[in-house]
Amino acid sequence: PFLIVAIDGGAASGKSSSSRTLSERFNLLHVDTGSYYRAVTAEMLRQNVRADDPAAVHAALARLALGTRVDGRSAVMTLGDRAAGDEIRSREVNDHVSHFAAIPELRAALLTYQRSQADVARAHGFRGLVMEGRDIGSVIFPDADFRFFLHADQVERARRRAQEGQQDSIAERDRLDSSRKASPLTCPAGATSIDTTHLTLAEVVDRMAAAIAT
Ligand code: C5P
Repeated sequence: PFLIVAIDGGAASGKSSSSRTLSERFNLLHVDTGSYYRAVTAEMLRQNVRADDPAAVHAALARLALGTRVDGRSAVMTLGDRAAGDEIRSREVNDHVSHFAAIPELRAALLTYQRSQADVARAHGFRGLVMEGRDIGSVIFPDADFRFFLHADQVERARRRAQEGQQDSIAERDRLDSSRKASPLTCPAGATSIDTTHLTLAEVVDRMAAAIAT
């Protein structure tokens, strides 16, 4: 049977590393939905569209030609004939992404797209998918086979991001992501919550893998 694993959590909570490892262990397509919000944000910025200009956002959304490319075990968003690249991790995108992600119409535009990643996984022969984000277990796949919520001490998360060499306002993004009206960041009811502050990546993955394997 097709397996869906949903992993939610704040910025730098350990979602990406653990979902990548799970994708290898269980032959799942890895879908980083944060990269999708980032790619759409980068495109908006490229078109000089501001998050506080609803008409411009609306017009730009209608023109987005979203597709998916599979790169190794990971899904990559394409916009027209361009695949999202390193620009989605830029300081500018870090600073703007949560403002665009708070727009209900933008989230709605990405809802069907995110669900359709299950078809991409099937078409590429994966056994399922592991999708990470903020609202996967609550909104995108509330019926996922496994739903995890990762959280960690803020100081530890800032340390992890800095170690990756990234300038990222994670506290501000978490504040915006948790306080928005549309799909705020929260532990989905019934999900398994894991505090990763004092755990290694291997320990986090082992906990999730143990649940999945049984
Ligand atoms: O996961 P990452 O930190 O790269 O996500 C970037 C931003 O995208 C988040 O801060 C949030 O504003 C938005 N996001 C979201 N819903 C998701 C995934 C990401 O709102 N499912």
